[in-house]
Amino acid sequence: MTENEIKDNFYKIREEIHVAEAKAGRAAGSVRLCAVSKFHPVEDVYAAMQAGQTLFGENRVQEASAKFSGIRESGKECTLHIIGALQLNKVKKAAEIASCIESADREELLAELEKHCARLGKNIEIYFELHTGEDSKSGYPDEASLLESAQHCAEGRYPHIVPAGLMTMAPFTSDEKEIRKSFATLRSLQQKLRSEFPSLRLDTLSMGMSGDYRIAIEEGSTEVRIGTALFGARA
Ligand SMILES: *Cc1c(COP(=O)(O)O)cnc(C)c1O
Repeated sequence: MTENEIKDNFYKIREEIHVAEAKAGRAAGSVRLCAVSKFHPVEDVYAAMQAGQTLFGENRVQEASAKFSGIRESGKECTLHIIGALQLNKVKKAAEIASCIESADREELLAELEKHCARLGKNIEIYFELHTGEDSKSGYPDEASLLESAQHCAEGRYPHIVPAGLMTMAPFTSDEKEIRKSFATLRSLQQKLRSEFPSLRLDTLSMGMSGDYRIAIEEGSTEVRIGTALFGARA
């Protein structure tokens, strides 16, 4: 994609997000865009930044680090979220470069993250990822295991971790009902968690990708993670 194509895509997506917000009776600006730049070169990130985008999502820590260290050094404002399954041996680097791990999906990951953030003297946000779609393997496998981690956070076990939201990936299907069900599940879990653990912020619902973000916004998403519709197909 050329720089101008990416910019055009960006303005189009922003507009569609606004339309979806209005259609769902939601306040303008209530949905944040996370630009998923995985597999795309740093030039594409700069193109989106020139159009005004500041929040980026990457799947792999190594790739993210290589891509975003230069951007950081240039002093430009940009925020990085890790959105893909995270191996324990990548947590140290992830803690250094990201402000949020959207794919928090197990207790030992939280423990490792706490250890490194304590060393860095840095607080990091996490979203608890819930597995709701059959074809993806990522996320807490069920609500019970996720609730247990949330409880540990509420009890103060991980003082450098700020649980800021929930994330899911809907199943890859054309069945809109299935997609809606996945998003609705995440939303009702958010309500449950917030009433059970009022000390946790958990105000972000990260759900919706290129193919389903309009549905996600109708179902209450506050952050959509969009790659293909912005940067084009991945190699
Ligand atoms: C790749 C990816 C996205 C973006 O998907 P698109 O369909 O390209 O918009 C969003 N969320 C996660 C977790 C991803 O891995």
